[in-house]
Amino acid sequence: MSHPLLARAIDICKSNNVRFTPIRQQVFTLMAEHKGAITAYELLEQLQRTDSKAKPPTIYRALDFLLENHFIHRIESLNAYLMCSHFGCEHAMQLLICDSCKTVVELNDSLIDDAFSTKADQFGFKITNKVLEAHGVCNQCL
Ligand SMILES: [Zn+2]
Ligand SMILES: [Zn+2]
Repeated sequence: MSHPLLARAIDICKSNNVRFTPIRQQVFTLMAEHKGAITAYELLEQLQRTDSKAKPPTIYRALDFLLENHFIHRIESLNAYLMCSHFGCEHAMQLLICDSCKTVVELNDSLIDDAFSTKADQFGFKITNKVLEAHGVCNQCL
């Protein structure tokens, strides 16, 4: 049984004319099945259960591909990755990360994003990479 999101991802790759190799699909599925943040190391461990030859570069190349195609996000403060909640496009992003259960809430508020960029503009600052991540406790853990 393949993950329902995988079919969508395959379609997107087809129309973007990019190669969605079996290993990339496998890492995609592992990410889709995982709730919340997952590290490259955890992914490698899971991958090695079905492919004992899998090595760190295998994972990093697959993750780079998934990032480039906007299927997943990188969580800088955790050095981990997250399945995008509505993948396939580039969008504004803010993350709320629960330090207790590791749940990550993905916000896509363009107003927050624009306000931040506008402030940077006022300082004549050119943003090349923007990370908005908040740590705390989610409503389930409070
Ligand atoms: Zn997203
Ligand atoms: Zn929590």
